[in-house]
Amino acid sequence: MASTTRLILNDLHAHGRLNHQQWLTLLAEAQSAPAFAEEIRTCAHAIRERYFGRAVYIRGLIEISNYCRNDCYYCGIRKSNGEVSRYRLSPNEILQCCRQGHDLGFRTFVLQGGEDAWFNDDRLARLVAAIRAEFPDSAITLSLGERSRESYERLFAAGANRYLLRHEAVNPDLYASLHPPRQRLANRLDCLRNLQAIGYQAGAGFMVGAPGQTLAHIAEDMVFLGDFRPAMVGIGPFIPQHATSYAHEPAGSVDLTLILLSLIRIMLPNVLLPATTALGTMDPQGHAKGMRAGANVVMPNLSPADVRGKYLLYDNKMSFGSEAAEGLDTLRQHMAEAGYKVVVARGDQPPLEN
Ligand code: SAH
Repeated sequence: MASTTRLILNDLHAHGRLNHQQWLTLLAEAQSAPAFAEEIRTCAHAIRERYFGRAVYIRGLIEISNYCRNDCYYCGIRKSNGEVSRYRLSPNEILQCCRQGHDLGFRTFVLQGGEDAWFNDDRLARLVAAIRAEFPDSAITLSLGERSRESYERLFAAGANRYLLRHEAVNPDLYASLHPPRQRLANRLDCLRNLQAIGYQAGAGFMVGAPGQTLAHIAEDMVFLGDFRPAMVGIGPFIPQHATSYAHEPAGSVDLTLILLSLIRIMLPNVLLPATTALGTMDPQGHAKGMRAGANVVMPNLSPADVRGKYLLYDNKMSFGSEAAEGLDTLRQHMAEAGYKVVVARGDQPPLEN
């Protein structure tokens, strides 16, 4: 058994992809044998060191709006959650966040939000162009959900560089169980392909332990990531939100998330891989554990403090301390204690070595 799984791991390392059965075997062994999981982690960390050294790239996360036309069953800001106090930052407020972030040392701004129709193409393109003009040394990442190809093209032309759009689940049945019928997996995947074709550094990903998700589903997601070859991958544990239908579902596993971070690092050696807020929320050592597993990015919250309590995708979401832009010194210190170094840099994807 152990030698079979080691051969599969070698295969992943050598070729950057595995088939579904290989993923299943590898994941099952990694979950049941801590020594094998540690072997995977060591391999992933060596690759992290080769591409990024001990650097930690930071991104200033600005949650621009919690209005959303979608109704993802797991998400706290879904349209039909009547408990949410809705807010929308003005373009000026967003620019102000960027200014504050730039002073603190951020050279990537991530604009994330619900699918809010107020941010139409005209308004968003103007905003992106204004950020681009004022911060020519910084990268602009958008995470604003599904939009038309024309929209993505305009935003790219206005100066956006990266786009995060987790695919959530590539298995059609699982996707359909997590979303209402009008939200279609095919459209989400088309969006991802469009983003990549336009020239964005595109980011895919999924929640670990989403309700109904099995190891076989995760194996499918890993096959998808191996084929799609995203520049970024966002994964984090599912965390229940009390006003959703999944309020009483168990949260995803931190250990499995760490194993997956390592396997993604081995599969996509130069990928930009965050230790996510959800991981940090589930485990106070989440950032450090994430870095040791092969992650290289942290995204502290740069939203105005008074709206942070309203962008609650899940319960107890962290947005202060080392998850906060103004807590950067805390993050620096935590990372230094773990042997890593927060850097002031755009932090683009380095080229793949062969
Ligand atoms: N509207 C944008 C941004 C979504 S929020 C979009 O559609 O891409 C960013 C991510 O948070 C989602 O992709 C989802 O994977 C994650 N998320 C949502 N609810 C969550 C929950 N309850 N637990 C953990 N992660 C969650």
